[in-house]
Amino acid sequence: MRNSSLKICLLGLFAFVFANSAWADGETAPARDPKQPVDEAYTAKIKKYTTAPYFSSPLVDYLPASKTVPTPEVVLGDVAGAPGILPYAEEVYKYMRLLEKASPRVKVISIGTTEEGREMIAVAVSSEENLKKLEENRARLAKLADPRAIHLDDTEADKLVAQSTPVYYITGTIHSPETGAPTALMELAYRLAVDESPYIKEIRDGVITLITPVVEVDGRNRVVDLYKWHLAHPKDFYPPLVYWGKYVAHDNNRDAMGVTLKLTENVLNTYVDWKAQVLHDLHESVPYLYDNTVGDGPYNAWIDPILADEWNMIASRNVADMTKFGMPGVFTHGDFDTWSPGYLMFIAALHNGISRLYETFGNGNADTRERTLQPDEYARTWYKQNPPLPKTLWSQRDNNNYEETGLLVSLHYFNENKRLFLKNFYLKAKRSVSKPGSEGPAAYVLPADEPRGTLQAELLQVLQKQKVEISRAKSAITISLPVKKEKKKEGEKPAEGKDKDAKIEPTTRSFPAGSYVIRMDQPYSRIADALLDHQYWSPEDPQKTPYDDTGWTFGELFGVQVVRVTDTKVLDAPMEKVTDVHATGGVKGDGAVFAIRNHAEPALATLRYKLKDAAIEAAEEPFEVGGAKFTRGTFLIRDAKRADVENAAKELGLQVAALAAAPSVKTHPVRAARIAYVHTWLSTQTEGWWRLALDGLQIPYDYMSTQAIAKIPDLRGKYDVILFPPVGIGASATAIIQGYPTAWGNPLPWQNTPLTPNLAGKNDSTDDMRPGLGYDGVAKLQSFVQNGGVLVTVDDTAQFALAVGMGAGVNAARSEKLKMVGAVVGTRLVDAASPIAYGYEEKVSAYSDDGLVFSLSSIAGGRRRRRLGPDMRERPTGRGTKDDPDYAVGRPGAEAPEEPEAETWEYPPVTDEQAHNNARVIPAANRARVVLRYANAKDLLLSGLIENGGEIAQHPAVLDVPVGQGHVVLFSINPVYRGETRGTYSLVLNTVLNFDNLNAGRKDATK
Ligand SMILES: [Zn+2]
Repeated sequence: MRNSSLKICLLGLFAFVFANSAWADGETAPARDPKQPVDEAYTAKIKKYTTAPYFSSPLVDYLPASKTVPTPEVVLGDVAGAPGILPYAEEVYKYMRLLEKASPRVKVISIGTTEEGREMIAVAVSSEENLKKLEENRARLAKLADPRAIHLDDTEADKLVAQSTPVYYITGTIHSPETGAPTALMELAYRLAVDESPYIKEIRDGVITLITPVVEVDGRNRVVDLYKWHLAHPKDFYPPLVYWGKYVAHDNNRDAMGVTLKLTENVLNTYVDWKAQVLHDLHESVPYLYDNTVGDGPYNAWIDPILADEWNMIASRNVADMTKFGMPGVFTHGDFDTWSPGYLMFIAALHNGISRLYETFGNGNADTRERTLQPDEYARTWYKQNPPLPKTLWSQRDNNNYEETGLLVSLHYFNENKRLFLKNFYLKAKRSVSKPGSEGPAAYVLPADEPRGTLQAELLQVLQKQKVEISRAKSAITISLPVKKEKKKEGEKPAEGKDKDAKIEPTTRSFPAGSYVIRMDQPYSRIADALLDHQYWSPEDPQKTPYDDTGWTFGELFGVQVVRVTDTKVLDAPMEKVTDVHATGGVKGDGAVFAIRNHAEPALATLRYKLKDAAIEAAEEPFEVGGAKFTRGTFLIRDAKRADVENAAKELGLQVAALAAAPSVKTHPVRAARIAYVHTWLSTQTEGWWRLALDGLQIPYDYMSTQAIAKIPDLRGKYDVILFPPVGIGASATAIIQGYPTAWGNPLPWQNTPLTPNLAGKNDSTDDMRPGLGYDGVAKLQSFVQNGGVLVTVDDTAQFALAVGMGAGVNAARSEKLKMVGAVVGTRLVDAASPIAYGYEEKVSAYSDDGLVFSLSSIAGGRRRRRLGPDMRERPTGRGTKDDPDYAVGRPGAEAPEEPEAETWEYPPVTDEQAHNNARVIPAANRARVVLRYANAKDLLLSGLIENGGEIAQHPAVLDVPVGQGHVVLFSINPVYRGETRGTYSLVLNTVLNFDNLNAGRKDATK
């Protein structure tokens, strides 16, 4: 304690000495306006709630007074950052609207609603003059944002730059347990509107500060509910925030590629509509302020290098200014890499702006707490010369001081250099438009003959949400393909003449009329390029711990063809812009039998549920009618009205062929299975993406916890399929069964009550989150499957199913050396006749994040083991050549029986010795069916990082295990993830629709 109080003295002195003299001549120093009175009471409370003087700055250690404009106190009942106070989103909005009413320098706009219907807002703060001329300014910025409007004329751009006011967009509390931003932003808005000090006035006159104080509004109100519960039960443990938004928790900041969440869409629209130059997102997980966009490599490969320089410029000054204030723990290099474009702030990075992100230090709520840091957090490093303190009392006010100070110095620096940043904004847009000629590619083409029309349309719709322009070819296009350079091996002479066996690579490629073209000569070409291109993360990269996914190639994950075209001739082809992208559906031909080819499009499942009463069957083999080919799994509808089929097909974009008669092919019913969907109370993060997918497809399901399903008496009577998506935290079977400890502590309720009106929302509720599935629940699941139900499991829930004995002969191991970090991987169809595989071709691209390594054993309870001792498959020492058999003197040679071999994904053959009187040998009919396997090691990587891929190469990726009358389906890949993996959704949906015929096409030949 003595030690730390000494530090406090020294640091206090340090701050005092430097604050007055740190600013150079001609620069405006941060200082109060002596003529403007200070709100003394408010200022005194700021001081009181700041736990040490050096956790504040001359910018925020006072509040200017105003006779007309209310301070945050009118809504909060105390100052911003006061202990014990967390406002609901509506209270924050109420204050912002009071500000708007009281000051002509503030304007509040509604930017959309959340999944649960709550409002999102943006607050513009600037001079009255600037706010009056918003539209004129926006028109100028629009020309800089799309320089085609000024014919890429730099002189014209300079004029616009000189006349324009830039927009700096700040977003708060996307991560609900990071609770400090809303109060910091309330106070920031007040300061920007009221403070007459030259430093703040310059910001107000020079910049339009745009603020969304609460990004995850649904989650904000939940965390405030929990805090109220905590304050009412101060001695109890309070429930962990198991739901944030309706669908996902922390991953709401990984949606900037797929744009599946409302909050992403609303912020993206606001950012683009306002033509903002910066998007600065506030987080709170690192002591005390980590300006993390500079972070560490590798940087995203699709950003303009100008941006990387801008990150460094702003961050360096940010760190320097706060260091000069004497605030410890401000730094910009760290372990965040800027590879993945999934973060909310990255909307700016790939739309020609500047992305920024702060991690400040939060306590999870408004309690003031003693905080003890880890050695790596308080260590002084080359990039953290003034590190955080090992131990400190920390308050929400401290956090607010850091957030506001960081934002104010950034805004000030940004304003001082705004001509440069506006010019850069224009230059980045111009360079995006010039991309085809300067760096390539010229375009991406999505061919018109794509069999997965609905998925192609969905991919294009994602691009449209990203504001990417899409064109359609009016006639066929032929382009030249890039010539692949052959790598010469060392010492090898160039081949003389042509190798007769070498395949002649085509040099051109044609696309039919109607093909979609994503031209790269448009302002937002970079986001399209980043989503459609392939990623390569070298295993040799010095960065050993990627921050997030390493691969995301959308064409691969949507299972549709996307062709990267470098030939700029493609841009000369006649084409027109399309605004409404949709797959064309309808019925063609005459007849009462309707056939819909199965290309693994999720829309087929929607159709099945839409035509609830129609009898639909699936063809178990491919067939032909009048020369027209139909895939295995084709839907055959026999008793539906043409109008009903036509309407549904048009709405869903599915092409239907009316046939005069039913084809002679074996079929089985495709049913609208009754789905129970199970979640734990441990985490709902990863399963949330499954709910989002099913809701989007309008597939009904009953959502329930492990606790609830354990209480249903006759599960099989009620449901056909139980989906148990991944818990996502590598949950053990024990954790799933037992939940939280109940031997001590108090119940953790997750319910709507007068004290917690927002907690359950439209999700699930319980009076105590602690109990898990329980052993009764395990027995219920087992009997459900025994009686013909189908249980779908992925990753940790697959491990759970195996741990409780559902899946004889299947082993699931966590990899040891493999590093497959959120990558796009190649898989191969093993059993095309399995209904789970309907619509897929031999190669399937999938998402895997260090997936489970499945191995099969023919002996129940056995493991596939390496042989002990030397491998004797090579011949022993003896007479003859290497390939001769051994011989023994004095007797005729004995031929050894051929040793049976199996592929990695297959069951190893049972030897005669193993078969002898062995009750554990698994009969053929009880064995798992391997639907999909991982590709061979050399073909495994499609996008991202894979190191030591041999560990999972060729192992099963999707297994269908018969158990009793039912099935357990086990996934090593995650087929439903972040709205990105739509190409593999049908592996799940096929399982659902064919739940009572999963054995179709099964070959049970024993070896
Ligand atoms: Zn965060």
